[in-house]
Amino acid sequence: ITVFTTRPDTVYGATFMSMAPEHPLVLEFARKAGREAEVLEFVERVAQQDKLVRSSEETEKEGIFTGGTCRNPLTGASIPIYAANFVLYEYGTGAVMAVPAHDQRDFEFARKYELPVVVVIQPDGEVLSSDTMKSAHEGEGRMVDSGPFTGLQSEEGKRKITAHFEEKGIGKGKIQYRLRDWGVSRQRYWGCPIPVIHCNTCGVVPVPARDLPVILPEDLPYTREKGNPLASAEEWIKVSCPACNGPARRETDTFDTFFESSWYFLRYIDPKNDREALDREKMRNWMPVDQYIGGVEHACMHLIYARFFHKYLRDRGLVPGNEPFHRLLSQGMVCKQTMECPKHGWRYPEEVDEKGKCRKCGEQVTVGRSMKMSKSKRNVVEPSELIERYGADTARVFSLFASPPEKDLDWSEQGVEGAYRFLGRVFRLLAQRREAVSRAEGSWDESAAARQIRRVTHRTLKKVTGDVEDRFHFNTALSAIMEMVNFLYLVEDAAWESPGTAPALREAVTILLLMLSPFAPHLSEEIWEWIGKKDLVSTQPWPPFDEEVARAEEILVVVQINGKLRSRITVDAGATEEEIRSMVLADPRVLEYTEGKKIRKMVYVPKKLVSIVV
Ligand SMILES: [Zn+2]
Ligand SMILES: [Zn+2]
Repeated sequence: ITVFTTRPDTVYGATFMSMAPEHPLVLEFARKAGREAEVLEFVERVAQQDKLVRSSEETEKEGIFTGGTCRNPLTGASIPIYAANFVLYEYGTGAVMAVPAHDQRDFEFARKYELPVVVVIQPDGEVLSSDTMKSAHEGEGRMVDSGPFTGLQSEEGKRKITAHFEEKGIGKGKIQYRLRDWGVSRQRYWGCPIPVIHCNTCGVVPVPARDLPVILPEDLPYTREKGNPLASAEEWIKVSCPACNGPARRETDTFDTFFESSWYFLRYIDPKNDREALDREKMRNWMPVDQYIGGVEHACMHLIYARFFHKYLRDRGLVPGNEPFHRLLSQGMVCKQTMECPKHGWRYPEEVDEKGKCRKCGEQVTVGRSMKMSKSKRNVVEPSELIERYGADTARVFSLFASPPEKDLDWSEQGVEGAYRFLGRVFRLLAQRREAVSRAEGSWDESAAARQIRRVTHRTLKKVTGDVEDRFHFNTALSAIMEMVNFLYLVEDAAWESPGTAPALREAVTILLLMLSPFAPHLSEEIWEWIGKKDLVSTQPWPPFDEEVARAEEILVVVQINGKLRSRITVDAGATEEEIRSMVLADPRVLEYTEGKKIRKMVYVPKKLVSIVV
């Protein structure tokens, strides 16, 4: 009996064989063993069941001993052959080696029919026992009770056992594609016509290229009756056969929409081309798509079809490369907590009072877990209301800050408030500094303060550039921008006016707005004008960061006050003693202890410590 397995490392654990009830050998075994009647009854009963249901995980596993046995090629043991409802004849060879210790379906089946369970793979750091295990261990591990292969890791075991089978001529390594036919026709009016004609004499005849595209009639009545309106478009359907000129009929089914979404991006490159589907030169210029973004719901249909189409078109020489997309981002969903009334079902927040009771019936409402936003669950947020209340910038900053795009976003009122407060901080900072920033002229000096401002600026820019360009981690980019805003709040008033530092602050604010503009375009545009910039911030190129400035060395200086550790400040490694002393005295945590007090002594231990006695 030929079987296919992805786990040759578990052959030693195969204690029985499962066959599709439709497999011709099933009844042959039963006949020889005199079990024909009961086996036939089982086979006929399973034949009534839907194939998808039969093979789904939830379906109760059922089987019957066929009366036949076979030999495990590695252990030499004689093992029973069962007919089992979950094995499909169309899939693989219609026969499966059953390894109950390492396959959950086989495990459930073995427990039900009291078949032996033999552990042959031990996971790391665990010792499984066939008597006590509650479910199969499907992962990999170290091989045990596996003859000469005992002690190997699964991966190596797979290779060695495959080689062993090949050597003995009883098996071979093979790549098995799990491909099934795809029914591409739909009974829909509006779809891409399937360009074929049915002729009684010639059969199915493709519409000749000169007659393409097939245009659908636009004047069919919409009825509420079932079925495809095209099927009744007699005028359109009647056509002469392109092969024999006899009377023939058009295909009335249209393509599944997946058929078009599998390659639309290729046609977008060259949408007006009426000579051919794809211009090879343009394909070479533009493909592959640099960045593809889609919901995770497309991960297993659309993307597979798109790759399949691409490989076909590649083989026809129509598109370059092996893959249609260079990078893929599957974004998460927007989720929000749900509220459910025992009498009225899902409730909108405004249908629930402050005490958490349904406004309609007064029953306590259950606050449920966060789920994908949907109108039916009433856990949606109306973007227009949010924008009305907080502005579009807040809505954007909140959405981008709440989570990295590949993760689900949990909607929270507090998060929205936080985004609003942050933008308020930016607004107030620059409202206060706009005059100083517009006035600043010339170039910064090489003072420690100016160097620190520039270091923070370029470090932030470097981080934000990387987060945005490489990883789309807008949330961490935003937190870096927030930190920079915090830093700018701590810059002393004098620095905004001083000729050595003001230009560095002007650069900082300029770069801050350029970084913030994609996240909060309206506010950034407004402040851009405040500080005397011409044109729109949104039309500026992304600024380059100065690697050397960003990388500049820093040292940590510890501050003691009256012998107790009170603060740590980060300073440029090139800062002078005088600069460090004045930065220490301006540090807010130091000010807490020194404000209104007389400083009796201040000692500086170079690059390490400042000790103050008050
Ligand atoms: Zn014909
Ligand atoms: Zn209610």
